[in-house]
Amino acid sequence: MFILSSRARGLKPSPTLAINAKAKSMQAQGIKVVSFGAGEPDFDTPENIKRAAIKAIQEGFTKYTAVGGIDELKDAIIQKLKRDNQLTYKRSEVLVSCGGKHSFYNLAQALFDQGDEVIIPAPYWVSYPPMVLLAGAAPVIIGTREEDNFKITPEGLKRAITPKTKALVLNSPSNPTGSAYTKKDLERIAEIAISSNFFVISDEIYEKIVYDGFEFRSIASLGEEIRKRTIIVHGVAKTYAMTGWRIGYTAGSEEIISAMNNIQSQSTSNPTSISQKASVEALIGSQDEVKKMVSAFAQRRNYIVDRLNEIEGVSCYKPIGAFYVFPNFSHYYGRTYQGKKINNSTDLADFFLDVAKVAVVPGVEFGADPFERLSYATSMEDIREGIDRIEEALKRLS
Ligand code: PLP
Repeated sequence: MFILSSRARGLKPSPTLAINAKAKSMQAQGIKVVSFGAGEPDFDTPENIKRAAIKAIQEGFTKYTAVGGIDELKDAIIQKLKRDNQLTYKRSEVLVSCGGKHSFYNLAQALFDQGDEVIIPAPYWVSYPPMVLLAGAAPVIIGTREEDNFKITPEGLKRAITPKTKALVLNSPSNPTGSAYTKKDLERIAEIAISSNFFVISDEIYEKIVYDGFEFRSIASLGEEIRKRTIIVHGVAKTYAMTGWRIGYTAGSEEIISAMNNIQSQSTSNPTSISQKASVEALIGSQDEVKKMVSAFAQRRNYIVDRLNEIEGVSCYKPIGAFYVFPNFSHYYGRTYQGKKINNSTDLADFFLDVAKVAVVPGVEFGADPFERLSYATSMEDIREGIDRIEEALKRLS
């Protein structure tokens, strides 16, 4: 008899969190590690948001709330979806959870059964396949190409569809590539979802972090038929530098949202009352700080992409959104350092951490081994230093 369930035995810990933990423990030993590992803004949560939380505490707003979020926050989310996405939702079509990850988890639990297939384009956010597996369904990974800006093609998508296809996971802008789908791309995907009758889980958590005037569109806004089949997964973590506050949300059909609410009522109950009040301010208060953060990210993106593309043998797609770059380092696979061969993205990430003292996340964790993921949600100074170190370390490979 096993002590652990087969579910727990089959589950790997989140690799991004593991890398950050290793980098932090090296830092605690006094080693100066430059970390490109973290998936969180280096900025502090804006003052107006903090003040809303302090006010909530002082006013004693510290008790259980409605399981799926307070009406005030649901209304702020509804207002945001109307303001930014021209989408109309009712309170019963919105659920607040403990972070975007929790939103996706609840959704997977509510929507998927044993035997269902869920199409996930690679490179994908590390947590999608495990959460689909935890719900008993089968992830169907479809590759995308660097030449296609890491976007699925209608042909690639059609090839993956079977009678068991229950949903497609779409993440635009994407973690880890920073690629984003245009309205035209989304129209083609929507057509296929409607004709083949599957759901689209649209993870829009990086919506506000876009560059060069890119116009974000939610696939749900392309018409009533696709809206019915779409569940938007969103959250305040990335846009408002609120990763620790743990507020995510979903918008979709009442039937699905109500089932998710039941699951949440029997597991976590409500997300933190104080964070909910802070999130109201984040969503409908001043958006000035967001503009400042995005413009800092844009500068860093330009710098890091240029630097990476200058390194011999490295190619790096210029992201449209989010705060990650996903350079191709496969040119260096097969080389050796002190007799040890670098075979893949994990070996190279280990080499960067051990030799250059730079933390990156191996591409294999995102389903794309030729690459490494670097988050540029860190200071310009660290970016300069980190890329210098990577460049130097690569020269030591023979
Ligand atoms: N979706 C994507 C694509 C992400 O990158 C993340 C965080 O890394 C999340 C969802 C979840 O964010 P959180 O649970 O912090 O709200």
